[in-house]
Order: sequence, then C-alpha cells, then structure tokens
Amino acid sequence: MRITDIIEKKKHGGALSKEEITFFVNDYVENKIPDYQIAALLMAIWFRGMTKEETFHLTMAMKYSGDVLNLNGLEHTIDKHSTGGIGDKLSLIVMPLWHSGGLTIAKMSGRGLGFTGGTIDKLEAIPGYNASLDKTSFLETVQKNGIAITGQSASLVPADKKLYALRDVTATVDSLPLIAASIMSKKLATAAQNIVLDVKYGEGSFMKTREDARKLAELMIDLGKNDGRRMAALLSPMNRPLGYAVGNALEVKEAYEFLCKEQKEKSALAENALALAGVGFILDGKTETLSEGIMLCHQLICSGKAKQSFFRWLKGQGGIFDENNFPGALHYPTGEFSVIARKSGIVTDINALSIGTAGMEMGAGRKQLEDKIDPAAGVILKKNIGDTVSKGDVLAILYGQNRSEEAERLVSEAFILGNKTPIKEEIEVFWGNQWEIIK
Ligand code: URA
Repeated sequence: MRITDIIEKKKHGGALSKEEITFFVNDYVENKIPDYQIAALLMAIWFRGMTKEETFHLTMAMKYSGDVLNLNGLEHTIDKHSTGGIGDKLSLIVMPLWHSGGLTIAKMSGRGLGFTGGTIDKLEAIPGYNASLDKTSFLETVQKNGIAITGQSASLVPADKKLYALRDVTATVDSLPLIAASIMSKKLATAAQNIVLDVKYGEGSFMKTREDARKLAELMIDLGKNDGRRMAALLSPMNRPLGYAVGNALEVKEAYEFLCKEQKEKSALAENALALAGVGFILDGKTETLSEGIMLCHQLICSGKAKQSFFRWLKGQGGIFDENNFPGALHYPTGEFSVIARKSGIVTDINALSIGTAGMEMGAGRKQLEDKIDPAAGVILKKNIGDTVSKGDVLAILYGQNRSEEAERLVSEAFILGNKTPIKEEIEVFWGNQWEIIK
C-alpha cells in the first residue's frame, strides 16, 4: 500500500477502505510516513469529508494505536465528554452524583488551553490531588473507590496526539469526521459502558452553531454505538458562562457548594448538571425517566451522599483537606479587583468568550501550552442573567496577582444591560434516534 495512492483517492472524493485507514494511522504513529504527506491527506479529508463508515474505521484505528483500558469486572461504568465551555465545572458536580447513585467512574480528562478551562487544572487547585496516575494505580483507585479522574495518559491514543498537533498547524481542525474520530477514539479507549456527551455550541465554545453541534453529536453517538456502548448526548448553548465562577479553585468551590445544598433555584448550571446526571442514570437503567433521574440527584444531595462521594474521590487521589472546612483548603493569597456597573438595567446577556478571556488574562488559563496557571485566579460574577443592576453596583470581582485593565474592560463589556428579562435557553437530549427538548 502506498500513501500517495491513498491521498490521490481521497483527493478525488473516494471512500477509503478499513485497510487503507488502518495503514496510514499505524504507519504515521510509527513515523514511517512524514508529516507533509499526512498533512496533504488531512486537507483532502477536510475538503472531501468521510462517510460514516470511514469515520468509524478512523476512530477504531486511532483507538487501537496505543493502550486500551480494560475495565473488565467493573459494572455500571460511565464516562462523560464535554466539548468545553466557560465556567464548565459539570464534571466536578456530575461525577460525585453518579458515584453516589451507584455508578463507577474511570475518567481521563484534559487540561485547558485558551479561554476554556480543563478539568485537570481545576482538580490540581486542590492541595495534594494527584492527576498523573499511571495506568495501574488508576485502575486500582477505580477498583477501590469506584471513582478516579486522571490526566490523559501519553500511551493512550498516540495517533490523536500526532494528528491533532498536525491539524492545529494545517488549518484542518474544523472537520466533523476528524473532530468526531479524535474525541471518540479517546472515549472508546477508556472503555466505559455508558458515555454521555455534553456538546455545547455558541460564542464560548468550539462549535459555533446548533446545527453543527447536532451533526457532531449524532456522528459521535453513532461511533460509540457501533463500538457497543450505550450513548446519549446533551446539546446546550454556551453563549453565557455556566454558573458564577470562572477559574480553577473558584470553580471547585462552586461545585462543592452545589453538592452541599438542595438546588431549588433553576439556574443554567443546575439545569445542565441535573439533566446530565439524570441522563446518565437513565442510560445505565437506574431510573426510567429524566424526572426520576433528577429526583434521585436531589435525594443524593440532600442526604449528603453526593458530598461524601466528592470527598472520597478527592481523598482517594491524595487530596489534603479538612472535610469540615473544605473551602479553606482552596484559599490562596490573591488580589481582588471589582468591576463596577456604569449604568443601570437588567442583565440580558453576559458574553462567555469575554469572561473566559478575562479569566485567562488574570492567570486562570494558558495562552501557550507550557504556561503556568494561577489556581486562585479568575472571575466571580456578582450579577447574573435576569438580575437588576444599578449604576455603581459590583458586576464582578477579578482575582489574580496583578490588576489587568484589559480584563476589567472585557468583563465590563461582557455585561449587556437592557430592560427585558431574557428568554431561557433550551437544552436538548439525543438518544440515538431522536432529539428531545428537555427544558
Ligand atoms: N477536542 C478533541 O479532543 N479533538 C478535536 O478534534 C476537537 C476537540
């Protein structure tokens, strides 16, 4: 087989066979094919697309390019994937809910780059938390505690590492089959029986339109089902930050508070978190309907079980804190800088991208992969959607070592004040055959 023939075939819009796809993935990982030829192939794929069958073969070839976890013997395993957003601390909330409801979590998560945060950065804001478990200690921790979340292992899906880096510098990231194969190869290599996808769209996320987000969700569900997993996807807008905190330690604290008290208020964070957790319970057969799943979440929070799972997880991975004063462990010295409203009105919108960028300016995110982040840095929104604001009120507080005029400008401009209460945004769920609006 020759790579030039494969490039030629795709250039003319032909469908590649399983053998051709497996050949180029394996030989690329083994450095037998140079970057420039794979770059040409990626661009041909970008223009010509891939059939569902080709995308599945690509996903499987990538999945088996390195280690595949074996969760044999573990029941009720579940994983989630979020396409990322501003203030997205859903993993920190949903994982303890699932664990306290009897599910087993073996999850690998990533770090953040740019304006979106990564779960591992948030967890590393907890003193002592070890997010670099090797494969053996990761599996042992899951066996012992029923829950572990660690950073992406270098030996898992090495094909994605190489292909993603090349896509990044050849303007071929935004291709649906390439995104779907990249995400799903990593999910399928971590082997959970149930997978819930949290696909976001809008200003503050990777997919800009609802239509593209739907297509991506449908494609990923198909890939997971073809590999024998139970799959569901949630689709929600990410034009506004999720919750009131953006920044690593700040988000851990917000997630902890969520797990400590009954969620009576119908905030976007509560609706997203409870829907996501509820969908997971349905997938595993723990509940039949979403309202039963959400009711179960309320019980797990009110009984204190969700909080116990949170502590068990964090302590199981080295977390050092006093359970009676968990937020105290997240206290880091930092500067506080208020952003004041320059006029009065109702908050009709908060631009997620601007808030995320402000958080990054304060030190909560990385501009380059090797940048060090400040666990205490970020933004706390003091006003949220629908709140009434008077001129002179504090809109938000910025946390960080140094004041940043750019961050203050971004936050000030992110708040859109009007005179009408904004319309609530919808969440949809996809079970593999039809879409359903759930809120
Ligand atoms: N996230 C991934 O893991 N891969 C992509 O291609 C895009 C987003």
